[in-house]
Amino acid sequence: MATYDLIVIGSGPGGYVCAIRAAQLGLRTAVVEKDKTFGGTCLNVGCIPSKALLHASELYEQAGHVFAKMGIQVGGPKLDLAAMMKFKDEGVDGNVKGVAFLLKKNKVDTFEGIGRIAAPGKVEVKGAGGKAQMLDTKSIVIATGSDVARLAGITIDEKRVVSSTGALVLDKVPAKLLVIGAGVIGLELGSVWRRLGAQVIVVEFLDRILPGMDNDVCRQFQRILEKQGIAFKLSSKVAAVDASGSRLKAKVEPAAGGAAETVEADVVLVAVGRVPYSTGLGLDEAGVKKDNRGRVVVDRHFATSVPGIYAIGDVIAGPMLAHKAEDEGVAVAEIIAGQAGHVNYDVIPNVVYTYPEIASVGKSEEELKAAGVTYNVGKFPFTANGRAKVNLQTEGFVKILADAKTDRVLGVHIVGPDAGNMIAEAAVAMEFGAAAEDIARTCHAHPTLSEAVKEAALAVGKRSIHM
Ligand SMILES: Cc1cc2nc3c(=O)[nH]c(=O)nc-3n(C[C@H](O)[C@H](O)[C@H](O)COP(=O)(O)OP(=O)(O)OC[C@H]3O[C@@H](n4cnc5c(N)ncnc54)[C@H](O)[C@@H]3O)c2cc1C
Repeated sequence: MATYDLIVIGSGPGGYVCAIRAAQLGLRTAVVEKDKTFGGTCLNVGCIPSKALLHASELYEQAGHVFAKMGIQVGGPKLDLAAMMKFKDEGVDGNVKGVAFLLKKNKVDTFEGIGRIAAPGKVEVKGAGGKAQMLDTKSIVIATGSDVARLAGITIDEKRVVSSTGALVLDKVPAKLLVIGAGVIGLELGSVWRRLGAQVIVVEFLDRILPGMDNDVCRQFQRILEKQGIAFKLSSKVAAVDASGSRLKAKVEPAAGGAAETVEADVVLVAVGRVPYSTGLGLDEAGVKKDNRGRVVVDRHFATSVPGIYAIGDVIAGPMLAHKAEDEGVAVAEIIAGQAGHVNYDVIPNVVYTYPEIASVGKSEEELKAAGVTYNVGKFPFTANGRAKVNLQTEGFVKILADAKTDRVLGVHIVGPDAGNMIAEAAVAMEFGAAAEDIARTCHAHPTLSEAVKEAALAVGKRSIHM
C-alpha cells in the first residue's frame, strides 16, 4: 500500500506550490528537498535576492541623482554594502521561512536529502550523513528546477568569475564587471553593480540584447542602459578568461570569428542561461525520457514517459520563470487529483526588473510577422503620461499589438516604470480574450501610469487622447 499519494522532489516555486495545492485537494503529500531551506532557486539565489538588491540599489541611485530634484537633500549617499547584503539575506530568510510555514500549515511532510526515483512509486531520500530511507507513493512530481549554464574553458570560482549566485554575494563593488550574456539575469545583476559604482561591460553573442523579446523594446532599452553607463559588445563572445593575474583578462572575439581582443575586469559574471537539473535522479534507470537538452519530456498533462511520474518547472521545456513553474505545479496537482488542470502558455508574462522595467505578454511583432498574422499597433509614450511626467519617470512606452481583423489583443510590451505590475492588466485582458477596444473603454484611475495602457489601446484605433 502506498504511504503517500504524492511525493514532490524539489521545493522551488514549482514544487512547493504543487505540494500545497495537492494537500488542499486532500492528497497525502510529501516534499523532498536537498538544500537546507525551501523555496529553490527563486527564493534562495534567484528572484528574491536579486529583486532585493535591485530595489536597494535603485533607491541608492535615486538618493544620489533624483532626490535633490524633488527637494530632498541627503548629501551624497554612502554605500554600506555589508548592510545591503544583510537586508537582502533577511528578505530571503523571511521568504523561505514563509514556505516552511505554509508546508506545515497544509500538513505536507518534508524530507531533507537528495531524492532519487528508485522505481515508479518509490523515492529514495539520502540525508546529509549518507543515510537513506525509502518512501512509497502513488505519484511522483519531478520539480528539480535548473542550474547555472557554464561555458567551456571558463571556470566559475564564485569569487572573481561568478555565476548569478556569486554575483549576489560579492563583498565589494568591483571596479570593472564584465557580464557574459545580455539576457535578463545579466542585465539585472549588471544594473545592480553599475548603480553601486562598477563600470559594467556586457558581451553578447547575438547582435541584440534580450533575445526573444520584441525588437522595438530591446532597441530602446539598450539605448536607455547605454545612457545609464552600461557598455555593450554585441555579436561577440568571450572565448577564455585568464585568472592568473591580479586582474582577470577576458579574451573577446567577434562571434563570426576574427581577431580577439583582451578586456580586463575585476569580476566576470557568466550569465548565459540555465540548464535543467535532471541528473542523479535515477531518471534513466526508471525509463523517464529526456530531450537532447536534458529536459524531462512531458505531455500536455505533465506526464513523463513512465506512468505515475510527472514533471514541472525549469526541468521541462518552456520559459524558465517562477510563475510558469507555479502554475504548472497547481495544474499537475489538480490533474493528479482527477481534475482538469491547465496552463495557458500564450499568456505568461515576462519581466526584466531593471530601471525602467521591461514587461511583455503574448506575441512580439517579429513572431506575428513570422506567423503571417496581420495586426495593428497602438503605442503610447510615458512622456505623455501625467503621472510619469510629475514623477520624473518618462522613459519608455506601452505597445499593444491587436489582430487587424478581430481587434483581439495578441501582445503587450511595456518599457517603463512599474511595467512588471502593469503587465498584469494585459495578462488578465488576454486571458479573457479581450479586444484592444475593451481595454480602451475600461475606466483607468487618474493619475496613474496604467493610463498609458489605456492610451495605447486607444492608439490601436488611432484615437488616443493625450498624443
Ligand atoms: C538570479 C536569478 C534571478 C531570477 N529572477 C527571476 C524573476 O525575477 N522572475 C522569475 O519568474 N524567475 C526568475 N528566475 C528564474 C526562477 O528562479 C526559476 O524559473 C524558478 O526557480 C524555477 O522553479 P522550479 O520550482 O522549477 O525550480 P527551482 O526553483 O530551481 O527549485 C528546484 C529545487 O529542487 C531541489 N532539488 C534538485 N534536485 C533535487 C533532488 N534530487 N532531491 C531533492 N531536491 C532536489 C533544488 O535544491 C531546488 O531547491 C531567476 C533565476 C535566477 C538564477
